[in-house]
Amino acid sequence: MTVTQSIGATQELLNLKRKEGSSIGFVPTMGALHKGHLSLIRRAKAENDFVVCSIFVNPIQFNNKEDLEKYPRTFDADYKLLEDEGCDLIFAPEVDEIYPNNNEPIPVYALNGLDKPMEGVFRPGHFQGVCVVVHKLFNIIKPNRAYFGDKDFQQLAIIRHMKKNLNLDVEIVGCAIVREEDGLAMSSRNIRLSTSERQIAPMIYKTLLQAKHKIETSTEINITPKQLKQWVSDQISSYPPLKPEYIEIVNKNTLQPVNDLNGGKDLIVCMAVYDGSVRLIDNIVLF
Ligand code: AMP
Repeated sequence: MTVTQSIGATQELLNLKRKEGSSIGFVPTMGALHKGHLSLIRRAKAENDFVVCSIFVNPIQFNNKEDLEKYPRTFDADYKLLEDEGCDLIFAPEVDEIYPNNNEPIPVYALNGLDKPMEGVFRPGHFQGVCVVVHKLFNIIKPNRAYFGDKDFQQLAIIRHMKKNLNLDVEIVGCAIVREEDGLAMSSRNIRLSTSERQIAPMIYKTLLQAKHKIETSTEINITPKQLKQWVSDQISSYPPLKPEYIEIVNKNTLQPVNDLNGGKDLIVCMAVYDGSVRLIDNIVLF
């Protein structure tokens, strides 16, 4: 496995691979890798000849300085995990490599309102920052396929939109959420949970499963989206220190809130919850 930090060295190696006829699979990450990330690597390995994982904590997608500073950085452990998975190249650039003209304004991406609800309300500018870095990474790596987790469902929808809108020549592949045995969605932030916070955290997914059941039986039990949101909020709040930031029941294509549960057709329930000071997100898709 090779590690590169410069764009030049990365492109030199990838140009060679392309010349040899290799297809390139790409998994963008911010490091602090866990089994969720590794499932993306595995999928990329299965579908491509050469797999690139980027590790880059993108400063412009953080709207909270403390969150950026506290973001876990575990390069040596990440290296070992990626090597065991058979990843071919880690691209781990410094901030200056990605943002050489530090003070220049960043482009604004048209996202058809997908960036406005949910995360967009509480992390203004976050998705613009994500689009900038993903677009730059696509330009550098030029992957045939790029892999993203359903865990960040709104992000995935936005990347798909950007690809379509800018006619980017890359296939976007969405991958299922990987969970701990007790249901907690794997996240780099989980290592910041105290023992007691970690113990209560599975109630997030348990509540989502209960909400899914209520949606599927919504016509029988006569419940509206507003009532269900309130029920989920009360439920989460009954497990301190869990504190919901947002809970939304939206159409999974438009990400717009729905007026009718419709037995769950094309719906997704998304939420962000504080467990103490750690912000966790999770969702459940209904078909
Ligand atoms: P991050 O390092 O948090 O930016 O995540 C990098 C990629 O891994 C994103 O596409 C995430 O959606 C994905 N990811 C993170 N956690 C999980 C998980 N538990 N299951 C599946 N994919 C995940």
